[in-house]
Amino acid sequence: MERHGLLINYQFCSGCHSCEVACKNVLKLPRGKWGIKLLENGPWEVTPGKFEWDYVPTPTQLCDLCADRVAAGKKPSCVHHCLSQCMEYAPLDQLANRAAELGHKTAIFIP
Ligand code: SF4
Ligand code: SF4
Repeated sequence: MERHGLLINYQFCSGCHSCEVACKNVLKLPRGKWGIKLLENGPWEVTPGKFEWDYVPTPTQLCDLCADRVAAGKKPSCVHHCLSQCMEYAPLDQLANRAAELGHKTAIFIP
């Protein structure tokens, strides 16, 4: 199968933690372990009056791109449950094109 990954357009991430919870449920992870972990950058002042303050969901080594769900024709759990719809799952070449379209504050995760 063509190699896939996750795209996270984190400029629209609200920091709701739904992806973390959805992932913990699907991977059956105990307290203290994450398949995706929400990090927070900021707030800090970049230039006078302009602030950096982002939530950046970061998949970990435990992420298997929801292999079982995908094999059953479903989206990865984090993508399905993201309230801001700022996560996408697709082949890497499609994600690269999508990232170029989106441009700002977009990350691609490859497990
Ligand atoms: S793709 Fe699946 S395993 Fe990976 S971070 Fe999302 S929910 Fe967790
Ligand atoms: S579910 Fe979506 S909006 Fe919520 S923290 Fe995760 S990436 Fe951000």
